[in-house]
Amino acid sequence: PFKEQIQFADDMQEFTKFPTKTGRRSLSRSISQSSTDSYSSAASYTDSSDDEVSPREKQQTNSKGSSNFCVKNIKQAEFGRREIEIAEQDMSALISLRKRAQGEKPLAGAKIVGCTHITAQTAVLIETLCALGAQCRWSACNIYSTQNEVAAALAEAGVAVFAWKGESEDDFWWCIDRCVNMDGWQANMILDDGGDLTHWVYKKYPNVFKKIRGIVEESVTGVHRLYQLSKAGKLCVPAMNVNDSVTKQKFDNLYCCRESILDGLKRTTDVMFGGKQVVVCGYGEVGKGCCAALKALGAIVYITEIDPICALQACMDGFRVVKLNEVIRQVDVVITCTGNKNVVTREHLDRMKNSCIVCNMGHSNTEIDVTSLRTPELTWERVRSQVDHVIWPDGKRVVLLAEGRLLNLSCSTVPTFVLSITATTQALALIELYNAPEGRYKQDVYLLPKKMDEYVASLHLPSFDAHLTELTDDQAKYLGLNKNGPFKPNYYR
Ligand code: NAD
Repeated sequence: PFKEQIQFADDMQEFTKFPTKTGRRSLSRSISQSSTDSYSSAASYTDSSDDEVSPREKQQTNSKGSSNFCVKNIKQAEFGRREIEIAEQDMSALISLRKRAQGEKPLAGAKIVGCTHITAQTAVLIETLCALGAQCRWSACNIYSTQNEVAAALAEAGVAVFAWKGESEDDFWWCIDRCVNMDGWQANMILDDGGDLTHWVYKKYPNVFKKIRGIVEESVTGVHRLYQLSKAGKLCVPAMNVNDSVTKQKFDNLYCCRESILDGLKRTTDVMFGGKQVVVCGYGEVGKGCCAALKALGAIVYITEIDPICALQACMDGFRVVKLNEVIRQVDVVITCTGNKNVVTREHLDRMKNSCIVCNMGHSNTEIDVTSLRTPELTWERVRSQVDHVIWPDGKRVVLLAEGRLLNLSCSTVPTFVLSITATTQALALIELYNAPEGRYKQDVYLLPKKMDEYVASLHLPSFDAHLTELTDDQAKYLGLNKNGPFKPNYYR
């Protein structure tokens, strides 16, 4: 049966063995900056024409007479429904999960309180959870990313959603509170993206944890917070770290960056890549993705690396490995993908040629020393949204994109298919934690085991009409594997 396919009791691995990549984000800042470590699909066309009355002041009901929601304008539901249907086309894994698990309803009785970006893609996830038997109450993890029409469509379909684009800080916590604090309804699962919801429950409603069977967390930041709670002995329920699952890492870092680097650069600068000299700092997953796309368009790509293995990989892939200093005067584009800080310094920026484009695909906004450019002798000119010209006294201009923040999160959209993988992983993690027998998970943070990653991938194969080869009994014995997986050890990435 369905539930057994995804069980992975034998494969549990403690989160504490896995290092996190970023530092903690302060709670008060977290809502006012766009989420730096999770994707929304950028709800750029959400209306701005609505009246300025706060949704909190409006009396709205859906067509069934329910007012158990708070969105910008319930009348946009039909438009939002179309957006959700478009997203469904590229999220067939979730749709097939709905079909496979329909009879069993593995989330029957689950009361999920969620806090994620509210976009067409997350709507497909939320509606999948409902189709599997869950009741959901939902708020937004980011004050800017909500697609108002999608929130309206969810509200029309009966989901208790509290979110709109452009919430104030007070609205943000009010929406979370409305999701958690409801007479006659108590959550037993948490799906969080960034850790704000989890934090709120800890602070305001610690008793809720008596009923909670588990937390599923999506972002680097949220996972880091859970890890801190666990270390302090304060984590009182099991938590699943979805962020570090193999499918998410591989697809977010490698493939998503391969798809979005050119998009981000083109939308901001209209640059042509053929024959351009580009230096990519860092040849990890993100760097490899960026380089593959740039190479395919005929750019001449240089790599900088600190790690001899990744440097050797770059050589084998046909790239010149250099020090940044050696090429900084000649390159047309500089892209950082290291997860490190101050990779591009003021000295490098001083030496760049006129019109050199500088951008970051790596860690938040630390890789390019943007602060060093805020000096009196340099002039900043905002030439487009997310594009600054920094002008030297001799007239030289450097084109700085998104002020050194992640280019693709700031300036392009993310393929629905990538979000589908993440959403499927979240759904499976919820099902697992909700159905796990007492004692399988302790009050700790767990990584998704290989078998579940493999299952997420297998649900996405039919979209490509890909046909997997099955091991024969003899081959399985030879390799020492179970015929149904896992096919790789947990440490394989
Ligand atoms: P990774 O560890 O696989 O790769 C980083 C590489 O940079 C490593 O090979 C490392 O040796 C190298 N490096 C470190 N310091 C360097 C330096 N000073 N000069 C040159 N090379 C250096 O990590 P990754 O998965 O490629 O992720 C890189 C960063 O991108 C992380 O901060 C990650 O959070 C972020 N990220 C961005 C996106 C996005 O959509 N833009 C997606 C996923 C991850």
